[in-house]
Amino acid sequence: MMDARTDFVIAPSPPVSLAVAGSAQRFPVRRIYCVGRNYVAHVQEMGGDVERDPPIFFQKPTDAIVASGATVPYPSVTKNFHHEIELAIAIGKGGRNISEAEAMDHVWGYCVALDMTRRDIQGNGKPWEIGKSFDFSCPCGPISPVSKVGHITSGAIKLTVNGQVRQDSDLSLLIWTLPEIIARLSEYFDLQPGDIVLTGTPHGVGPVEAGDKLVGTVAGLAPLEVTIGPQLA
Ligand code: MN
Repeated sequence: MMDARTDFVIAPSPPVSLAVAGSAQRFPVRRIYCVGRNYVAHVQEMGGDVERDPPIFFQKPTDAIVASGATVPYPSVTKNFHHEIELAIAIGKGGRNISEAEAMDHVWGYCVALDMTRRDIQGNGKPWEIGKSFDFSCPCGPISPVSKVGHITSGAIKLTVNGQVRQDSDLSLLIWTLPEIIARLSEYFDLQPGDIVLTGTPHGVGPVEAGDKLVGTVAGLAPLEVTIGPQLA
């Protein structure tokens, strides 16, 4: 919705939106939620214990989105910039305390996303903010509506870097399933239309360098392609 106010003291930021695959329409993005540690083989490669603890949730700023086809600057203050290919859910209907049985009714569509990470400064008991939630940290492909592609709960999820396969898994290996993620997240937050939820990365995460070309795919969805740019000062 356009805001008709004319009394802002500085220009307000433009709304963030994503392309809808096969359409001239746009999906307006309100918040970006992410799930951490949601594939067994990825938890193991990060040195974690595989227990079914409650899912780890964090957020990225909405204006961290980078559209497919664009360049992702190599961020400042890191020497280990990692890719994490993920399936993202686009919420079309909000709610609190959503049941697992009704959770999928809240999904408008799906896209391929990257949870780009400053791995060398993520975690160690500190907040994930500077490791996960920085500028340009959330490339997202076009959103495919459920009305066209159905629900995406299994199938290949893959990332290539310069044509070499780095991550290759299947959505059926998610520890927390999509209905479980939506139900749990809605216990903590009032989900709203326009929210995006990244569902976690499979194993094979690793570093990228300036000039690398990343292509992320999930079976049934439009691909996500980005190029890594020079490091920001
Ligand atoms: Mn992730």
